[in-house]
Amino acid sequence: MQTPPPIALSAGKIPWSGILLGIQPRIDLSRSFDQRQHGYLGYLLLVDGEAAGARRTFTVRIGPAAQARHQFRSGDRISGVAAHVESREREVADFYKAGELTVVERSTATSSASPPWLGTPPALEVYRERGHRRLDSRTYEHACRTCQWGSRMAVEMVVDPWNPGAVKRRFETFCYGPKSCPLYRAGATRKVPGREGMPYEEEDWVDDEATSHRSEDD
Ligand code: SF4
Repeated sequence: MQTPPPIALSAGKIPWSGILLGIQPRIDLSRSFDQRQHGYLGYLLLVDGEAAGARRTFTVRIGPAAQARHQFRSGDRISGVAAHVESREREVADFYKAGELTVVERSTATSSASPPWLGTPPALEVYRERGHRRLDSRTYEHACRTCQWGSRMAVEMVVDPWNPGAVKRRFETFCYGPKSCPLYRAGATRKVPGREGMPYEEEDWVDDEATSHRSEDD
């Protein structure tokens, strides 16, 4: 008996499906000493399910238009196809170029009454307006991966402004949520490498200033 041909997938993409554990904004951060610039790019879906036939928890990046169209929310059963990311050094997601996005079963869960905050994330503009505080990376991993106010950003650092092509990369975690959140831990201050080995230390006042327009519970 002849082996049946493989099922044709969109441009070599792999199928995935599962329960949506949480949705966070996908934001890139560019640093140059004490200067920083954000790129509000889209969203990151944290899914517990199957990808390419293997059971796992993984992340899929989508654009703002896809989120606006599907209104994904935590607890939804969803599916799609996507490609493996090519550069893990620059990318927080496991998969990108997502397509054939489908809500298989809509979650009936009500919005969470305590952190982590689940549900449908707000528009990217809301994150920009709120501003963030640094978030301890271990706290992020243990408590905040599903929270709509958490974000793990790919960071690009220009060490020498006279040589902008030479960059360093890393990941940093931030919280856009209420300042009164009991799960919040700031962690150590962050150092940005500078010219001739002179780093810039981002002190607490930077976070205070970025979120000074919000009350403790906002
Ligand atoms: S610390 Fe921030 S990201 Fe973590 S649960 Fe609280 S509001 Fe969400």
